[in-house]
Amino acid sequence: MIPENLQQIQSQLPAHCSLLAVSKTKPITAIEVAYDCGQRDFGENKVQELFEKATQLRDKPEIRWHFIGSLQSNKVNKLLETPHLAAIHSIDRLSLLEKVLKKPSSIGLFLQINTSGEVEKSGFTEADHIHKAISLIKAQKVYRLQGLMTMGSIRAQDFEQAARASFKQLQELKSELDAAYGLDLELSMGMSQDFLLALEYGSHWVRIGSQIFGKRS
Ligand SMILES: *Cc1c(COP(=O)(O)O)cnc(C)c1O
Repeated sequence: MIPENLQQIQSQLPAHCSLLAVSKTKPITAIEVAYDCGQRDFGENKVQELFEKATQLRDKPEIRWHFIGSLQSNKVNKLLETPHLAAIHSIDRLSLLEKVLKKPSSIGLFLQINTSGEVEKSGFTEADHIHKAISLIKAQKVYRLQGLMTMGSIRAQDFEQAARASFKQLQELKSELDAAYGLDLELSMGMSQDFLLALEYGSHWVRIGSQIFGKRS
């Protein structure tokens, strides 16, 4: 049940960590149940689905939407028109960032970092691209660089060790960038299967779907 699941997860989160309820493929009614339990941040990974849900729920005054999926450049404008959009967690390449920055908005941006080295995962891998991304956001001034996002390994044999390596790498990158640019970046990492590990590495946003809403859609 959604209320019990939410409560159970919340009870495991430290004060500095927020729960992003990943509602992709789930019906509006499930989102409303979670909202009525006090959940405010919701994540979606498809622009069209997000736009439709956010439009239907636009009268919920405190709802905040987070985009977490892979984003095609031609969908950026539609995404930015979404009611109550709070952040994009999946800025994974410079060309996408440039497209987003052309349409000023005060939402938060997270740079997605490929920490697992898996080629099928998207995300920045090169340090100079990350530095370039930060300087583009700083120069544009309206957007906020809110943090860094990563996903743990999907095919590792030793799942726990691979997840730890990814989360540790993101935590170290945060320290480096915070020091270099005077930032205090937030970390978006940890899903249903690995969020307890992500908490050990200082996650500020755990993105949890199936453990809240169940596996089936
Ligand atoms: C689906 C998804 C999640 C949530 O996954 P669960 O295993 O259902 O908790 C988190 N992050 C991203 C990017 C996702 O696409």
